[in-house]
Amino acid sequence: MNQENCDCARCPIPRSERSCEAPLGLAPAGCPTEIYQELNQKALSLLAEPLCREFARQAACQEKEGYRLEEGHTVPIKPRLLEIAEFAGRMGYRKLGLAFCSGLYREGKKVAEFLVGRDFEVVSACCKVGRTPKEELGLDDGDKLHPGRFEPMCNPLLQALLLNEAKTEFNILLGLCVGHDSLFFRHGQAPCTVLAVKDRLLGHNPLAAVYQLDSYYRCLSHR
Ligand code: SF4
Repeated sequence: MNQENCDCARCPIPRSERSCEAPLGLAPAGCPTEIYQELNQKALSLLAEPLCREFARQAACQEKEGYRLEEGHTVPIKPRLLEIAEFAGRMGYRKLGLAFCSGLYREGKKVAEFLVGRDFEVVSACCKVGRTPKEELGLDDGDKLHPGRFEPMCNPLLQALLLNEAKTEFNILLGLCVGHDSLFFRHGQAPCTVLAVKDRLLGHNPLAAVYQLDSYYRCLSHR
């Protein structure tokens, strides 16, 4: 384990025996649960802020409600779409923002209708909103998908500003590109969750590549 940076992703301890999962659990060298107790106190002190505390409390309740117990086993019972709607309801939010990719118009419409059907007010903005040409980013014609044509850039900043302007209470991202999502996270004011991320190749399921890194996608591991 790296001594300087925490490296939970490569923790060698079996999950149920880990320091972070069990009171007398085992900790590898560099374990942040053991080393960064002061920082954890700082994290806990952030929960003194009532909204943060309520958010965390309701998220924990929502997590629990995502399962039913069956003969001692946890069985997942809710899709994320439903969890998002339930969580927003738990928090008392009524006005939701939906920032979606233009390539997922149909999905965006379905999601908006689903949420409206649950009595939420939905403010939605697609990624091409603003019709700003890619040239605005300093890109050349050759940088476009279709050189020689007008091509609007994705505009996550305007998506964020529009939802800020509408004073949405909770924002939902649907299929924004890598990097565009980061800009939205940075500039959107309301708390934000992600319904789905963009993966053009794999039906917006990036984990499909992860699950196959030892087989069909092993080529990705060799650079
Ligand atoms: S917190 Fe410690 S025990 Fe838990 S995964 Fe990270 S390194 Fe392993």
